[in-house]
Amino acid sequence: MDKTRRRGAPAPSRIAAIAALCAGLTLALAPGRAGAEWFKGNTHCHTSASPDSSTPIESLMSWYKDNGYDFVVLTDHNAYTTQAALNALRDARGRALVDADFLLIPGEELTTSQHHINGIDLPARVAPASSISAAFELIWANGGLPQLNHPEYNFLQSRDIIEEVSEMSGPMFLEIFNSHPIVIERSGPSSEDIWDGVLSTGRLMWGVAVDDAHTLVQGDRPPGGGFIFVDAASRDKAAILDAMERGRFYASTGAQLADFSHTRSLYDVDAPGATEIVFIGGNGAVLERVRGDFASYRFRGDERYVRARVSSPEGFAWTQPVFVDALPPNEAPTASISASTARGPAPLAVEFDGGASGDVDGQVVTWRWDFGDGGVGRGEVILHQFEAPGRYTVELTVFDDQGEPGRETLDVEVLAEGVDPEPSPTPEPEGQPEGQPEGQPEPDGQPEAQPDEAEPNPDPRGSVGQVRNEGCAQAPGPGRSGGPGWLAALLIAALIGRSIDARGRGRV
Ligand SMILES: [Zn+2]
Ligand SMILES: [Zn+2]
Repeated sequence: MDKTRRRGAPAPSRIAAIAALCAGLTLALAPGRAGAEWFKGNTHCHTSASPDSSTPIESLMSWYKDNGYDFVVLTDHNAYTTQAALNALRDARGRALVDADFLLIPGEELTTSQHHINGIDLPARVAPASSISAAFELIWANGGLPQLNHPEYNFLQSRDIIEEVSEMSGPMFLEIFNSHPIVIERSGPSSEDIWDGVLSTGRLMWGVAVDDAHTLVQGDRPPGGGFIFVDAASRDKAAILDAMERGRFYASTGAQLADFSHTRSLYDVDAPGATEIVFIGGNGAVLERVRGDFASYRFRGDERYVRARVSSPEGFAWTQPVFVDALPPNEAPTASISASTARGPAPLAVEFDGGASGDVDGQVVTWRWDFGDGGVGRGEVILHQFEAPGRYTVELTVFDDQGEPGRETLDVEVLAEGVDPEPSPTPEPEGQPEGQPEGQPEPDGQPEAQPDEAEPNPDPRGSVGQVRNEGCAQAPGPGRSGGPGWLAALLIAALIGRSIDARGRGRV
């Protein structure tokens, strides 16, 4: 027993660690991608080391390499090939099979008449065990990962698996698709139904698809029928197995995903080219059926678990389940206010923008404003005019998609009418653009200045004062009509407000 291995012997501390891992199972499906790409692999195949295969190992592994696989786990029946021997394999042209783009992982299919169980990444041959639970223990004890193969082929039902593994703590895998023709022909519950039966008891098994290849002959038991895509940080054994243990992979017969992930409130599946995405919950219930290649499922709370099956012209894909009871508590949203200005003479029109508000585990869906002068409003961006001088505390309350609030305030100071809030040492060159002779061509030959260029001012402080005054002078009020000039001034005020913001004066 080698305790330096990544998944060493199940010492008490390790069992506690695994139990802790399993208690927080759904955290495994963390939002976002860990790695740069999805690595394609197969965790179940046979060569001439198995009694029911005569395929040379070099031929089979060359096929996987030539067909775009990143890694393969060799799992001969009760037979084992060492990592060193796998690494030394050469193709028909004498080139090394294992290289920076292709990885082979040693394993074994622990085979009895009752069940077939893969030990993935074993250090040596392991004798088959009499029960599923004993085999799992043996595989974990040797630092490997257990995968229960083709349950329907062995006439196993959910309850047979549950009886064995419900009390066990540790990462485990279940074949939910196996393209071996005899497995496919078996009647009775499908592997996917069996998976739902196990998951419905709260026992997590990650679902894998495999080809169980024995030959390269089409119509027999060829490679390529089922595989997994793993979101690993890099194409090396430790990273790939670590991602698999955390459920950062999906099973496939051809459909490919850009990503699947979840937050506290949503389970997202992004599958370019897919025709349908079905969300499935406890006892295999269809929760939602979405036509198209992107779907976002909102947790209700009573589903037990949520997983997805994707259909595309290339085949199916199955994402890993999330247990709804174990979702982390909601995090409150963060409110953030920016204002076009925070100080100026009455009447002062201010554009407030709550667009920088956010929610780490969902989204902001409602913005409510209390302007402190008796006025209230709703919306991400809102315009409010303060009529009377005074100091007002504007409060923004945002609500996330779970209805939880977040707040921020911003003080606005409204000065007496006509007061320049920040006299400029050099008077504004008022009316300068209009002061130019009409129709006089620009030196560079431009016939007309653009509207935005009609307010040039290298001094931002000067600009603020100018635009504020202009905006207020043209603000629509009783007996006044708002026109394009008013809108343009507001737009400019908003833009300049952002420059105030950048200098830290317009925001708390
Ligand atoms: Zn088998
Ligand atoms: Zn097999």
